[in-house]
Amino acid sequence: MGLLSSNTRLDKLEDLFLHELEDLYDAEKRLTKALPLMMEAAKNPKLKMGFEQHLRETEGQIARLERIFDMINRKPERETCDAMKGLIAEGNEAINARGNDDVRDAALIAAAQRVEHYEIAGYGTLRTFAKTLGMHEAATLLQQTLDEEEATDKKLTEIAVSIVNPRAEMA
Ligand code: FE
Ligand code: FE
Ligand code: FE
Repeated sequence: MGLLSSNTRLDKLEDLFLHELEDLYDAEKRLTKALPLMMEAAKNPKLKMGFEQHLRETEGQIARLERIFDMINRKPERETCDAMKGLIAEGNEAINARGNDDVRDAALIAAAQRVEHYEIAGYGTLRTFAKTLGMHEAATLLQQTLDEEEATDKKLTEIAVSIVNPRAEMA
């Protein structure tokens, strides 16, 4: 999540739920800008397609978050996600690096998996808060996104282990 500013008030679990929702909303919005650059930088076609597919999924994930804002009668607002800013900055290092294509692809995967793990932590927490608060429809939507993030993480591992890392090792 973003840094809680000194004037953030967390009196109820609903307050924390909203704070985390706004943080993930910001994180996903940032990813829709970052993923096209990852896609462009990737040399392996499977990796490129994987980023492209996850960009489309990310757009759907943003729509789910907007539905949840709607359920709690709030306008979608962004709370700066400092962690995602940092993870994207690390991804940019991989994007801008020179060198061997396969080693660079391995670096893109390493950065992308850090992003997925952050999202998995965030969505897992938010889904569990939703369940606790009796927001079953929201919990279902958050679980769908969590499943997508986990599947993306697994797919990245598969591409790394089966193709990219062995090729990078030969560089
Ligand atoms: Fe965050
Ligand atoms: Fe996402
Ligand atoms: Fe993701």
